[in-house]
Amino acid sequence: MIHTKSEEVYHEALQHIVGGVNSPSRSYKAVGGGAPVVMAKGEGPYFWDVDGNRYIDYLAGYGPIITGFGHPHIAKAIKLAAETGVLFGTPTVHEVKFAKMLKEAIPSLDKVRFTNSGTEAVMTTVRVARAYTGRTKIIKFEGCYHGHFDQVLVAAGSGPATLGSPDSAGVPVTVATEVITVPYNDTEQFQMAMDKWGEDVAAILIEPIVGNFGMVMPKPGFLEYVHKVAKEFGALTIYDEVITAFRFHYGAAQDLLGLTPDLTAMGKIIGGGLPIGAYGGRKEIMDTVAPLGPAYQAGTMAGNPASMLAGIACLEVLQTPGVYEEMDRLGAMLEKGILDAAEKHGITITVNRIKGALTVYFTSEKVENYKQAEQSDGEMFAKFFKLMLSKGINLAPSKYEAWFLTTEHKEEDILETIDAVNYAFSKLK
Ligand code: PLP
Repeated sequence: MIHTKSEEVYHEALQHIVGGVNSPSRSYKAVGGGAPVVMAKGEGPYFWDVDGNRYIDYLAGYGPIITGFGHPHIAKAIKLAAETGVLFGTPTVHEVKFAKMLKEAIPSLDKVRFTNSGTEAVMTTVRVARAYTGRTKIIKFEGCYHGHFDQVLVAAGSGPATLGSPDSAGVPVTVATEVITVPYNDTEQFQMAMDKWGEDVAAILIEPIVGNFGMVMPKPGFLEYVHKVAKEFGALTIYDEVITAFRFHYGAAQDLLGLTPDLTAMGKIIGGGLPIGAYGGRKEIMDTVAPLGPAYQAGTMAGNPASMLAGIACLEVLQTPGVYEEMDRLGAMLEKGILDAAEKHGITITVNRIKGALTVYFTSEKVENYKQAEQSDGEMFAKFFKLMLSKGINLAPSKYEAWFLTTEHKEEDILETIDAVNYAFSKLK
C-alpha cells in the first residue's frame, strides 16, 4: 500500500500545525512513529486516504461515528441546518426536542445542558458537584480519561490516600492536590481514599464502563460499592458516559448496569459526528447552574442547531429496531475470529468485548484495571496496527483504544477483517 500523498500532507502539516495533528492521539507516536494516514472521504464503514487506499474503519472518529460516514439521514439534517441557520444565539426548538429525547432515553437526567465537547461537559459536572456540595476534592480512577481540563490531567499519588500530582505541564500543583486517583475495580483502595478524604470529596468521577484503557467492565458489585460509600460521605457520583452513552443500547451504560448517578456527562455519539457535549442529572443539583443558580457555565456555540439536528438524526437512526443487536452479533463474530486466529498462529492475546466494541490486548492476563492494560505488549500492538493498516483495516493507533463497530459494518467487512487479522498474526509469530 502506497502512502506517498499522506506523507506529503503530513510533512506539510508539521510545519503549520503543532505536531502535525489537532489531537495527540492522532499521531502515530504510540505505534512507533511515521506519517499518520491522511483521510480524504468516507462512506458507511469505509474511508479512503489521499492516496486512494480504502480502509474498513474501526476508529469511528474515536467513537462518535456509530452510523458510519455520510449517513444520509444525518447528512440531510446537517444540510437543513446549513440552509436555515447554524447559529442564532437564541433558544431553538431543536435543543428542546433533543433534550427531551435524551431524558426519555436516560431516566437519571431530570435536566440537561448542552456543551461543545465531552471535556466541557465533564468539567462542568465537576464544578456543579463542587457548587452543590461546597467541597473541593474529586476522586477519579486510574486510566479513565475525562478530557483535557486541569483537574483530570492529574496523575495518581503513591497510594490511595495520597493526593495527585500534575500529569501535564501547565497544571498547577494546587489543582492536582484536589484530586485523588485510585485503581479502577479496586474497592479496598477506594475505601482507603474515602476514609482519608471522604468528608472533603465533592464527587466520584468514573467511566461506568471504561473505554479508555480498552473496554473494561466494572467487576460485579464495584460500582454499587462506589455508590454506597459516596452516599455515606455525602459525595456525588458523576458518570462520564462520553463514550458509553448510546454505544451499547439506546440509552446510557448506567441503565444497562441498573445504577443511577447524580450527574452524567455525555458527548461523541450524541452529536452525530458534529462537536457536542451534554451533562445532566438530578433537578436540585442541575438547578445550581446559571442562570438559575450560582455555578457558571456558558457557550457561544452550545446547543447550536447543526449539532442538535445532527444529534437528533443520529438518535433517530439508532432507534431503528435491531441495530444494536446486529452490532453485538458482528462484534461476537469479530471477537471469535480474532481469538481463533490467535490460537491458530500461537499469539497470546486477551480480548475484552462489550457488544459492538472490543479491545485486543497482547497479554495473557485478564484486563480489569489500568496496570494490567499497561502491561500488555505495546511493541506487538504497534506491529499489529501497521500490518492491519497495510491490509486496509484502520484501528486506533494505541494499545489502549477500542475497535468500534457501526450500524454500517456488514458480515463481509468482518470476514475481511478476520482475514487481515490472520495475516497480521502470521507475520507476528
Ligand atoms: N470523557 C471520556 C470518557 C472520553 O473518552 C473523552 C474523549 O475521548 C472525553 C471525556 C473528552 O471528550 P472530548 O474529546 O469531546 O472533549
